[in-house]
Parts: sequence; C-alpha cells; structure tokens
Amino acid sequence: MSISTLARSIAESPTLRLNEEARLLREKGLPVTHLGAGEPKNKTPIAAILSSAAKLVNGDVKYVPTDGIPSLKKAIIRYTEENYGRAVPPENVIVSSGAKQAVYNVLFSILNPQDEVIIPAPYWVSYPEMVKMVYGVPITVVPEDGGYHPRMADIQRAVSPATKAIIINSPNNPSGVMYSEAFVAEIVEFCERKGIYLITDDIYHKLVFDGKRAPSAYAHTGRDVDESRVIVINGISKLYGMTGFRIGWTIAGRKLVEVMTNVQAQTTSCASLVMQAGAEGALTGLQSTVEGLRLTIENNRDVALQELHSFTGVKCVKPDGTFYCFPDFRAYHKDSVALSDFLLKKALVVTVPGREFGMEGHLRLSYAGSIKDITEGIARIKWALDPNSPHEIYIGDRRMVRDWL
Ligand code: PMP
Repeated sequence: MSISTLARSIAESPTLRLNEEARLLREKGLPVTHLGAGEPKNKTPIAAILSSAAKLVNGDVKYVPTDGIPSLKKAIIRYTEENYGRAVPPENVIVSSGAKQAVYNVLFSILNPQDEVIIPAPYWVSYPEMVKMVYGVPITVVPEDGGYHPRMADIQRAVSPATKAIIINSPNNPSGVMYSEAFVAEIVEFCERKGIYLITDDIYHKLVFDGKRAPSAYAHTGRDVDESRVIVINGISKLYGMTGFRIGWTIAGRKLVEVMTNVQAQTTSCASLVMQAGAEGALTGLQSTVEGLRLTIENNRDVALQELHSFTGVKCVKPDGTFYCFPDFRAYHKDSVALSDFLLKKALVVTVPGREFGMEGHLRLSYAGSIKDITEGIARIKWALDPNSPHEIYIGDRRMVRDWL
C-alpha cells in the first residue's frame, strides 16, 4: 500500500486514541474513569431535537446551500450581534461541519505552501496538524516566562516575512486560561497593522466562570469585517454540549467566505440539513441550557481544583473557563506520555499528555464529567503517584495495593 508522505506525517488524534483505549479496557469489564473527554454530559436541548426532528418527519432531506441554510445563518448573525456587538451580513458567514472543519477550511483558503502560522502554546492539538495538512509550517510559541498566557513579545519574535496567520483560542484548551483584554487588544492591533490573519477560535467563549466575560477581538478593531484580518470561529459543540451535531461556523471577510464556500463545495457540499436545523433550534430556543451547563461546569472546576490542591507537588492554574485544567506533574514525571500511559494501566484513569498540547510535564484533565468521575479520577491519580496518600484504594469493587512507591 502506498501512502503519501504528508498523510503519513499527520499525528493520530490523541484524545480519540485514548477514548478507544478506554473503551477496550471497559469492554474487558475494567472500571475506567475518564478525565480525557472534551464534551459535557448533558442531553441535547429539546428545541434542537424538535427542530431536527421536524426536518426528518418532513422527509425532505436534500442538499442545501454550501455556506449554510439561510435560517441558521440568520440565527448565527443574531448570536454574533448579541455576543460580539457586530452586525454582519450573511455574506460574511459560512456554516461548516464543526468548528474543526471551519478551522481547516480557513487554513486551506489562506495558506500557500511554506507559509507560517504562529500558534501560542499550550494549544489545541489539531492546529499544528491542520497547518501541516495544507503544506504550511506551524510555528509554536511557548511563553518564555513559563506561564500559560501568551505574551506579545514572544509572538513578535516568532513573526517572519512568511507569517500568514496567528491562531488564538481563549478560554484555552487545554489550560482553561482566558486571555486578557489588553493582550487581545494588542494582538488585534498588531495583526491589522501587519496584515496577518488573526484566527480566534472562540468555541469556549461562553463557558467562562467567576462572572468574567471573554474579550471579543471585534471590540478592538474599527475595521469592517470585510477589511479586517480578524476571523472568528465558533460552534454549538461546547456551547450546548451538542458535539455530535457537528455544526460550527466562520465569520470572515466576504472574499474569504466565497473562497471557503468553493472549497467546501468541492469537499463536503454542505453540512447536513438535519444537523443545521438542530443548531438553529438550539440558538433560537430557550438559552437556559447554556447557563445551566456553565454553572455545572464551574462547580466541577471548583471540585477538581480542591482535589488537586491536596496533591503534594502538583501545581495547577485556576481555569477561567472551558472544562479542562492543565496541572503541572513535573514533580512526579517529566514525560507526560509515559505518565498518562502509567495512570491508565495502573489506576484505570484516562488523562491526556501535555506533550500533545506543546507543554511537556503536564496532563490535561477534563472536568466535563460527573463529580464522581472527577473526585474518583483524581483520587486514583493521587494513589498512584503520591507517596503521602494511603497505599490501598478500591477501584470498582477491587482492592488495589500500591507496590511501586
Ligand atoms: N476548537 C477547540 C479549541 C476545541 O477544543 C474543539 C473540540 N475539542 C474544537 C475546536 C472542535 O469543535 P467542533 O466539535 O465544533 O468541531
């Protein structure tokens, strides 16, 4: 079998691999606790179900416009106005099959081979791989102060004549850190001045805690969306816990949206009508789901932090949003892949290695699950690593004795 060099160089999705490993262990009857998942446990909002079901009942499920059905685009326009204070015409909006496809389509549409994209670390695992998939060069930038918030000075040092775009994601997967208003203002001004695209992946921008609000890049540019270098990505996966619907969107200049529409037309034709209707139902229905989900996750964050704080040597920055935290486990192990594997085998708990997010020595823990998942998962990690913890634990109904510390 002959496989292209490029395809061979693309890394497997670590979260999907871990999900599969956990599934296999569960199939063997082992009580695996999942702190790897990137999705909340809530049921789909009823407005979304009814809206999707109406299309199915009607039986008229056909191709629809490539850039999205007009009624969903209208709902997205209203959402953008309410949450970003920007009124955009439909020509600036394109619906895709998930924010993931939206990011890929943007990169495909703006990059020439060898163009560089700056990605501040820690970053979402898919960005560097997607840049490579369109023959671009990912330039990852680790903050020199060892923190989790990007610094303009580090980013500016990484800029070269080949820099075409910068991708930011705030609140951030994996750290949960939200970028400051001052940083967003500065990076928007910088990108507008330099003619560099600023892709802001805002998939978690409503999942923010402690009464805070995510800064909007649009608030810091006076330019019309058609003239601006700001490209906003968003979707329903995290907002409503509707990961399986696979609907996301991009707000960008109309010329770019036209090109992205051609790209999408030649690859997927359109996102499914049934799922677009579901997204429209969620966006136009009762919004109490969003606040309910946010409150649950905020409480989960507090429980996770409390558990982690009782862990000798582990440092964890308090997340401002998302359903992830990114504790530093270097006191226990420098190699996060080995550590994650060890925890899965010995303690039957799924974590995601920090190396995948560009920061070695950390683990990404998700608190999107139940309180029981969180407390039990962290207790197992503590049992496996911390010599100050009791050397016996019950995992399911099995008594486990630690014999390696
Ligand atoms: N961006 C980030 C930062 C994410 O964490 C995820 C999901 N893990 C996505 C995009 C993908 O979202 P979607 O399900 O809409 O493709």
